[in-house]
Amino acid sequence: MRYPHLRLLACLLFCGTLLHGSKYAAPQEISNGIFHLKPQHPVEELRAEALRAAPPVESGDFRRPDLVELQRLDPTIKLDIRYATTANFLSTPMYSQARAFLQRPAAEALVDANRKVHAQGYGLLIHDAYRPWYVTKMFWDATPDDKKIFVADPASGSKHNRGCAVDLSLYDLKTGREVTMPSVYDEMTPRAFADYPGGTPEERQRRALLRTAMESEGFTVYPNEWWHFDYKDWKDYPIMNIRFEDLGGGGAQSDTRNVKPQRILH
Ligand SMILES: [Zn+2]
Repeated sequence: MRYPHLRLLACLLFCGTLLHGSKYAAPQEISNGIFHLKPQHPVEELRAEALRAAPPVESGDFRRPDLVELQRLDPTIKLDIRYATTANFLSTPMYSQARAFLQRPAAEALVDANRKVHAQGYGLLIHDAYRPWYVTKMFWDATPDDKKIFVADPASGSKHNRGCAVDLSLYDLKTGREVTMPSVYDEMTPRAFADYPGGTPEERQRRALLRTAMESEGFTVYPNEWWHFDYKDWKDYPIMNIRFEDLGGGGAQSDTRNVKPQRILH
């Protein structure tokens, strides 16, 4: 949790209104199931600036990165990589390729979690996993101050940058369609909180099922976002800034095993 006092205040204001109001209303920023906000600066300017900037310098011993493409480990893990489309909070593609990578131990744990939700009639639906650092900087610079509790500060980096965080939901194995949850993905309101008490009982039940499966495999939910999970070994991996385009796509894993951390950190 980054700013627990802000979160509490937001919940008091927002959850209180929802719980005591007679009508449940989705925030105005949502259209067609996608949360949008107006970037603080033009996205292309932010991209150019972020690509020029350098990630924070880190010291310490890190494990050699070994990013694995999730669908190569388990094709029943579905992808809906919103940042490769306009269906995201900035309404602009961030990635030129719809791909999802995690460090190998996290990826293998995710496969086990997928097996667990299969037994309940669901599959894992991935919205984002490894995220190059420059994209985290773009998110931060685009987001207004009152919503910054939902984005990571590039000065410390995101666990997504270390290949140890994943944003995901569930899809129904029978229909293949994404299920509804108490909020939409990337919604920057208290409905996104992992303990938000609103939504339907079925939505809360599915949110709990996802969390239980992930926690049993070494992931921890981020309290401000029901869809974001960090893998327990995140401290062992450095912040990375390799674009998807540079990760290769031929083998069972990406090319990062042979890349020295110094080159990755640049
Ligand atoms: Zn996330």
